[in-house]
Amino acid sequence: MKIYHLSAECYPVAKVGGLGDVVGALPKYQNLAGLQAAVVLPFYDRKFTRENEFETVFAAATLLGNKRYFFEILKEKTNKLGFELYLVKIPGLLDRENIYSYPDEREQFIAYQLAFLDWISYSQQTPDLIHCHDHHTGLVPFLLYHSKLYTRLANVPTVFTIHNGQYHGAFGWDKLSLLPEIDLTKTGLLDWAGGINPLAAAVKCSWRYTTVSPSYLEELTYNSNGLEYLFYTERGKGTGIMNGIDTDVWNPQTDAMIAAKYTARTLAKGKRANKETLCQRFELDPEKPLFTFIGRLVVEKGADLLAKAIERSLLENEGEINFLILGTGDKETELELLKLKNKYAEHCAVFIGYDESLAHQIYAGADFLLMPSRVEPCGLNQLYALRYGTLPIVRATGGLKDSVIDFGDAGGYGIRFVQDNVQDICHSVFRAKQLYHDGNKLQQLRKQMMALDYSWTRSTQQYTDLYKSLKPII
Ligand code: ADP
Repeated sequence: MKIYHLSAECYPVAKVGGLGDVVGALPKYQNLAGLQAAVVLPFYDRKFTRENEFETVFAAATLLGNKRYFFEILKEKTNKLGFELYLVKIPGLLDRENIYSYPDEREQFIAYQLAFLDWISYSQQTPDLIHCHDHHTGLVPFLLYHSKLYTRLANVPTVFTIHNGQYHGAFGWDKLSLLPEIDLTKTGLLDWAGGINPLAAAVKCSWRYTTVSPSYLEELTYNSNGLEYLFYTERGKGTGIMNGIDTDVWNPQTDAMIAAKYTARTLAKGKRANKETLCQRFELDPEKPLFTFIGRLVVEKGADLLAKAIERSLLENEGEINFLILGTGDKETELELLKLKNKYAEHCAVFIGYDESLAHQIYAGADFLLMPSRVEPCGLNQLYALRYGTLPIVRATGGLKDSVIDFGDAGGYGIRFVQDNVQDICHSVFRAKQLYHDGNKLQQLRKQMMALDYSWTRSTQQYTDLYKSLKPII
């Protein structure tokens, strides 16, 4: 079964968050399971593309409105990632460093999708399935089925996975001319609230859509930034499949980025060594429980609550706890956290930026990982934390709800809270501190977490089952 995954991110080529992790891992595991999965990304001028060799497998021109763009499809020569990797390079549009946030990103992602479709269309390929991820690839199902250019491909099944339903990539109908000729009786499929909405179009036109956790599938029907009614009516087409983690990359036993490798058996010693190295770097006392947060500093992640919750927790616990924050995002939140660091230098370290190896060191060295997310489609951080024996403290939402059971409940191992407010976070921090001082219990919970299986094997099988059950929509 030949599958093309289309995505804006793919680790280690280009990653901003969980989307990159998933698209960097799922195809690899699908190939191991006997499928033929390849990834097609926009080209980015980044470390991976500079340091690896590519060959041009196709070149042509595509039209975006009345502008003609030349494009090339580059293939990484060695398949070193465990799958064929193709990059769509378009001089002047897709040849830049960053993944998002250019003023012409609409044109960038439309051109990427058109170049992909032109490539498979002109080169007479007929994949068994096209798997699109998030709104950047959301126009592909519509164009396949409703543009004259691609009639030959109109029977190719499409699956659309929603990694984040808050972002839709919507734009005005004035930009319709950026699309090729389409069946104008079908424009309603592109429309939501008076504009072209790629996420909505993908949900309507793909044969099936999936979310990255079962709880998130339900949550979209009441929290999806204006698409609630759509998710409510299309619910029958949806399936929730929890992400896995790439256990080749995230494994404390083999992780070359951490100070001391360890297994569940050598956990106490290994964690201690990693914690000491981490605390030395950030000048924190390794005897105190270390709480951490890793991620985008945005409201969705509850990052705006962090500074207040940390200050109150420090006061309530008389400084007997430490915090380490790694993240980048809203400038106001970054500033607030940096101020906190200056005020409580002995107890609070803040690293503003993106640092993949520091993230690994923190999962290995911290005691507790805080995730006060307001929205969390799946969340990978808590899965990495579990794998590294770091107890997750999560707000019960989306994938966090599906993967973390409170240690007070039967079979539980983490800490959960319900409200997105400072009080609930502080109460959870207090519970964690008590647990820290009950060393045996914490040790037992850590071993329990490390034994959990969140590898891709299970999720890969669920995707395969879904692919096999696909039926055309009328
Ligand atoms: P999202 O995709 O919403 O950002 P996920 O939990 O699905 O959240 O994935 C986050 C991924 O990004 C994890 O691999 C996490 O370790 C990583 N990450 C986020 N921020 C940073 C950062 N500042 N430095 C290093 N890694 C980060």
